[in-house]
Amino acid sequence: MCRPRHLTAVQNDEVRGHGPFPFYLHRFKRIDSPLCVCGQVGDADHYTFDCSLTKDFHLLKPADANKKMWFKNLLNNRQAIGKLSESFRISNELCDSLTRTGDF
Ligand SMILES: [Zn+2]
Repeated sequence: MCRPRHLTAVQNDEVRGHGPFPFYLHRFKRIDSPLCVCGQVGDADHYTFDCSLTKDFHLLKPADANKKMWFKNLLNNRQAIGKLSESFRISNELCDSLTRTGDF
């Protein structure tokens, strides 16, 4: 299928939390539901910390108060970025299948 231009653009923003997630696809009206196939809201945090599909690549969740510093450190942490991109690759594939089955 043909990927809409705005989705390609947001993929470059993955690290900032605007990747190909059900939550965002739903906001762009690409799919009916913001939920992941596991039943929880499929946003960036979900795939980074919670989703069973990406559990091999989960990062340790920081306390909300530390999130800003955590994120700053993350950008200098190659291993964490590697995990993050694996999680987002999985969510990307998931979104592809969701948009295909959604058949808009
Ligand atoms: Zn999930």
